[in-house]
Amino acid sequence: MPAVVTHYLFALRVFSRLKKSGLDDFDRDMALIGAQGPDIFFFHRVLPWKPGDSQTIVGRKLHRGSPARLFEGFRGVLNTERLQYKEVMGYVVGFFCHYALDRAAHPYIYWAQEKLSEDDPDYGTKPIQYHFRIESALDTMILRRETGRLISSFHLMSALPRDSGGRYRMVGRLYNDLLFRLYGMRIPVELLALAPGDMRHALFFLNDRGMLRQRLLFRPIEKLVRKGHFASSLMRPQDTSDWDYANEAHKEWSNPYDSLQKSTDSFYRLYDDAVAEAADMITEFVASLPMGKSMQEITQDRGFSSDLPGVYDEV
Ligand SMILES: [Zn+2]
Repeated sequence: MPAVVTHYLFALRVFSRLKKSGLDDFDRDMALIGAQGPDIFFFHRVLPWKPGDSQTIVGRKLHRGSPARLFEGFRGVLNTERLQYKEVMGYVVGFFCHYALDRAAHPYIYWAQEKLSEDDPDYGTKPIQYHFRIESALDTMILRRETGRLISSFHLMSALPRDSGGRYRMVGRLYNDLLFRLYGMRIPVELLALAPGDMRHALFFLNDRGMLRQRLLFRPIEKLVRKGHFASSLMRPQDTSDWDYANEAHKEWSNPYDSLQKSTDSFYRLYDDAVAEAADMITEFVASLPMGKSMQEITQDRGFSSDLPGVYDEV
């Protein structure tokens, strides 16, 4: 979830690759919203003053289900779309980027969070704090690697397009249709359409230009409540030299979902390979419309967290 910058920059890399092969007939803003994948729902109505039923469950369900089924659902939505085809196509293109990076990165990040908690046991009490700390550090590192920029010069909100041309409503319409196809869930378009805006609003509060909020607000509060670094694990650090977050030393690590699967790849290598995989999946997806190759074939149904075929936790 804190990997908003990484997902954004990753999508830009994939888009330029697609453009070179002549595949750019989709709405780019919708694709950038799609690039945040189901993560937009983690922020749905979570700020305490926002009324309405929070739908964070949607974020969890989509991450934990079968990717093949999910993309079949997207294909179904797209095949019946007449009015906003380029926009819906853009959303699905972006979503493929999100999925490709999630599945490539998660086994490493789960391994790294274990390792980091051994190396720095006093940092947190919950695994998720280490998970967020690693993803936040990777945001800083990927931004520097891809653009040469410092995180302190980057507005987090610029990673997610603002609402224009009714795009947030299109996202609501798309999920209303998709969630009914996948789970028989009936959630009103208007309620679903709030997700991207809620995420953008949360990013405003997480933006840590100058690190003022981190220094002045979060750290002292955390000390006070003795909860360990929770809020600050969501903030992007300026200095990432305190640990080898990207495995630049090429230590051997294994996929927690299958300990026999070992690798010495750095995060950068995983990222670069996933760019190629995302572009391939999107190219095959477009060629499969309206009803060609199955999504099982295109995604191998590799789980969002496990990267293994058919391995995910259905909820
Ligand atoms: Zn995700």
